[in-house]
Amino acid sequence: TPRVFSGIQPSGNLHLGNYLGALKRFVDWQAKDVESIYCMVDLHAITVWQDPKDLQKSTRELCAGFIAAGLDPEKSILINQSQVPEHAQLAWVFNCVARMGWMQRMTQWKDKAGKNAQNASLGLFAYPALMAADILTYHATHVPVGEDQKQHLELARDIATKFNHDYDVDFFPIPEPVIEGAGTRVMSLRDGSKKMSKSDVSDASRINLTDDADTIAKKIRKAKTDPDALPSEAKGLEERPEARNLINIYAALNGQSVDQVLADVGGKQFSEFKPMLADLAVDKMSPITTEMSRLMENQDEIDKILTRGAERARAITAPILRKTYDIVGMVPPV
Ligand code: ATP
Ligand code: MG
Repeated sequence: TPRVFSGIQPSGNLHLGNYLGALKRFVDWQAKDVESIYCMVDLHAITVWQDPKDLQKSTRELCAGFIAAGLDPEKSILINQSQVPEHAQLAWVFNCVARMGWMQRMTQWKDKAGKNAQNASLGLFAYPALMAADILTYHATHVPVGEDQKQHLELARDIATKFNHDYDVDFFPIPEPVIEGAGTRVMSLRDGSKKMSKSDVSDASRINLTDDADTIAKKIRKAKTDPDALPSEAKGLEERPEARNLINIYAALNGQSVDQVLADVGGKQFSEFKPMLADLAVDKMSPITTEMSRLMENQDEIDKILTRGAERARAITAPILRKTYDIVGMVPPV
């Protein structure tokens, strides 16, 4: 059976892009006959500064978000990365497999390090090796992610391939990225050329899972658009990134294709379409928001779910790490 792994950083501001590009698709996978592991990747989050109190809160909030969106901790293994030490341990081995040049080509590194790369953390540079370890410490075969993670997935495949080759083994499976549907690249509401991000300084650029109905409606009303009416076919969205983004969001929220949406709304002005989109977004998101805050009232319950998840996870990861160490030549304890 396929084994699915994916993660989200507890870096605050869980948004519509995370929901459509990741969470909602995790829930779809859960309905299939697969083993799945979903992770709050706190070790990734600290590659940029996180206030310790905020990190704890964001991690629990993310766990609440996973469950509120429909993940069942009995069916899927829900974990907090730092509670499963094999992730970081395997990452060290992969740091020694990956090459500096591979890392330097990563666009996320270039974007997040910015002009002052000398001052970025070493962890931010090594991020993709830890991500490869997250996946491969489970021998996961399928990784549902947003479009922005495609390059990191390719790197994970390169690391698995190089490890197998260098040690002349057929140990790590080559994981498949799964990037499909209208929601895999949700763009900023303020700039159609930038993806919606937790780390964007502008709160108006994204719809947060914790936003109330009025805030959602206001952000959509203010979203950047062009002055033309909506086209009736997908090819009319070429060269109109903001229009395409809003249509994609509508399609992904409503479980429709872009063509189906345009068949209904083609010819409408944004002044008419935006309230429709706002209603749909509130309709789909507010039950999740409500359930999230209810779950957040019972922190002990969340902590127990994560502890139990880590136990189940380690039953998979500990033997894989041990076998990796054996392959590499590390003396086992007796
Ligand atoms: P940060 O800005 O801190 O990197 P992020 O918004 O990129 O935060 P991540 O935790 O890095 O969120 O990513 C979690 C998952 O959400 C990944 O699978 C990623 O591909 C997906 N994702 C992130 N942003 C978007 C987006 N705008 N559209 C679709 N999927 C997205
Ligand atoms: Mg990101």
